[in-house]
Amino acid sequence: MRFSFAYRTKAVAVAIGIIAASTAILSWNSYRYVVERENLTETAFVQSNIKLAAKYIERIEQTIIDNDRILSEMIDIDAPESEWLAMVDAIKTNPDLNVDQVYFLSPDSHVAEFLPLFPLYSYEIRNLWGAFRASFKPSELNIERLALNQVHHLHKERPDNYFFASYAMKETSKGKRILICYQMNFDKIVALLDKNLRDLQTDYYVSIVDFENNGIYNAPISRSSKYYYETRFPTTLYKWILQMVPRKYTEIEEQKENERLSSLVFLILNASLVFLGLTVIYMASRRERQLRQLKEDFIGNVSHELKTPLSLIRMFSEILVTGRARNEEIKREYYNIIHNQSDRMSRLISNLLDFASLEHAGNNKNFEYTNITDLIGKELEAYRQEIQKDGFQLSVEIESQIPDTMANPNAITMALFNLLDNSVKYSGDQKLITVHIARSNGYIELSVADKGIGIPREERQKIFEKFYRGSDAAVRGVRGSGIGLSITKHVAEMHGGDVLVESEPGKGSTFTLRIPIRRPPNLGGQEPSH
Ligand code: ADP
Repeated sequence: MRFSFAYRTKAVAVAIGIIAASTAILSWNSYRYVVERENLTETAFVQSNIKLAAKYIERIEQTIIDNDRILSEMIDIDAPESEWLAMVDAIKTNPDLNVDQVYFLSPDSHVAEFLPLFPLYSYEIRNLWGAFRASFKPSELNIERLALNQVHHLHKERPDNYFFASYAMKETSKGKRILICYQMNFDKIVALLDKNLRDLQTDYYVSIVDFENNGIYNAPISRSSKYYYETRFPTTLYKWILQMVPRKYTEIEEQKENERLSSLVFLILNASLVFLGLTVIYMASRRERQLRQLKEDFIGNVSHELKTPLSLIRMFSEILVTGRARNEEIKREYYNIIHNQSDRMSRLISNLLDFASLEHAGNNKNFEYTNITDLIGKELEAYRQEIQKDGFQLSVEIESQIPDTMANPNAITMALFNLLDNSVKYSGDQKLITVHIARSNGYIELSVADKGIGIPREERQKIFEKFYRGSDAAVRGVRGSGIGLSITKHVAEMHGGDVLVESEPGKGSTFTLRIPIRRPPNLGGQEPSH
């Protein structure tokens, strides 16, 4: 199936657009995915912190509750009062139970404070009792509703100290109710916290504070810290708050930042590569389009170039063959026309053939040690005669001591005649052409100057491309195929040289073919000293 050219160009543009858009969308989505994944990781991290905190809180509370059970078992409520001291001492001296004092209290509710059954109030314990009484008040405890043997906790903040106690209502076998209160030792409770929280502190900053943010265990942690988490003790030390922050949170942040950055870089790189690829495809397709256009123009130009002289030849030869030419003078004129036109055709054909052979020449350069001045001197004389008929003046300036050099004589002649031919074609009223041969910096410079239409600046590089013809109407009105300068450039390059152009629109152009001076390999291959 064949598509039209314009259709294909549009299809390429649409395809490129689609690929570019989908790459952009894909990159954006991938980036969003990375960010979302990071957020998920962050959420998972925060969740794991919450779980960890709950685990440690539960561990501490469980120790206290286990202790409550042991305490309860160590008190025999039916034992005679004389044994209470021994029971209490056993509790106080057990280092794991953290108890400072055990109080046996009469839960008489119509009294504003509990009556101590043990230790009995005495002057010696007045301070201890006073402090205890200030914290453990019947009005705050709802004594009537206390179920038997059920352990409760009282946790208080005090101006200078903290009060923490477990208490339970017990009943003797004779039906007498006694409220037993175990007042805990602050330092021992802190030691219990330390024991349970120590391993958590390898990865976290941990602290326990009260509601006013006074540090009880370690200094308080700033609540604005990243990944900060706090939680309370639900049943025992309920006036205290556990605070924690991962120690490596800057590392975690850095790692997150790095991951985001590297994925961003990767995405940008990826997208750039795709865009680069698309640009290359676009340029290639544009180039192909231009080349096709040039080839189409070339075919049109060449067929026109061949048709014009051919029809002239046919027309005048027909007149001659049918004997319609009136006299000898007219006949001569017609012969001349036929001769000129066939000349023109053969020049074009040989140019085309040369072009084709140069295109396929490869490394076969056919170089020989050549005297360029001699080579072109005679040809220029013949050429001068020819163009003089059309009113052209050819001036040839050859510097003395132009050395021989390794060159392909046919190619050099072809290149020079292409330049001369252009000068003739693109000259206006001023029909002066100057050929100059000089030696400069290891090169032989062959320049052809005219006083013709000149070349606009923006076309001075393009004119050396295959099939390219100037856009000027004056150029378009002149015969041409767009291969002359490309042949000349090719010739220069195969010799290791180049072609330079200087031009001023409306004033003329100078083309200079530069051929490096080289001796044959058997003479050292280097430029001779003079
Ligand atoms: P052609 O002459 O067949 O068009 P060339 O490859 O020889 O092809 O030249 C390419 C183009 O360069 C020409 O079409 C013309 O626009 C420009 N050009 C070449 N030589 C001259 C010149 N001497 N003066 C002005 N324009 C020139």
